[in-house]
Amino acid sequence: MTIIHSEIFKQYPEILFGMSTNSGGVSSGSFGLNLSFHVNDNPDDVKENRKRFFAELGISEDHVAFTRQQHTVNIVTVNQSGINENCDALITEKKNIFLSISIADCTPVMLYDPRKKIIAGIHAGWRGTTGRIVEKTLLQLKHEYGSTPEEIIAFIGPSAGNCCYEVGEEVASQFPAQCSSVGTNGKYLLDVKRANVIQLLECGVQNSNIEVNKDCTIQNELYHSHRRDGIRSGRMMAIIGMTK
Ligand SMILES: [Zn+2]
Repeated sequence: MTIIHSEIFKQYPEILFGMSTNSGGVSSGSFGLNLSFHVNDNPDDVKENRKRFFAELGISEDHVAFTRQQHTVNIVTVNQSGINENCDALITEKKNIFLSISIADCTPVMLYDPRKKIIAGIHAGWRGTTGRIVEKTLLQLKHEYGSTPEEIIAFIGPSAGNCCYEVGEEVASQFPAQCSSVGTNGKYLLDVKRANVIQLLECGVQNSNIEVNKDCTIQNELYHSHRRDGIRSGRMMAIIGMTK
């Protein structure tokens, strides 16, 4: 099983971070290591996939907080594991609660405040990004915990890259000019990772505290991709938690 790790979180031994790929699963065809029960995969296969992934990370599913993501900018602070309806970002100060973000092309943004010991997991698709969900999460961290952006560590995970992610003018025009380039057939190539880096920097996060994984989920078949595989696309999980 291939797990994506973060370099920037490695300097904090209390942080557990891992993102699944499409390797090491039991589901049929392109579902592979699908971790979602909502994509018409066999539920028994999904259970086995989840068991394997959480075992690989060394955590129990009983300690995972999940989101039912709806491309909103709703942010929930959690104190326990389980499912959180209608939200796209989770925050916790609790040890051994692992925040889970479901991914197949959208951008996972994971945050850590090493001074206040707070973590956040954010699902930033193009809608969440134009809705400024990263900025809103940073504001919530400030208001609830007194976090300052200058101290936040951020990881932007594998997602649709500007090599492949075609969108129409109506989407591209909602982003800063440097986040899109002209593609073919009147389409644009969108860089959602870049848009989230800009958002982090605008909020005061330091460039040296931001890591961006370069992998494109559409191009690289190690990953699930909704754009590439359509209704036969599974979902990956990005997990962050504090173990001590
Ligand atoms: Zn690509």
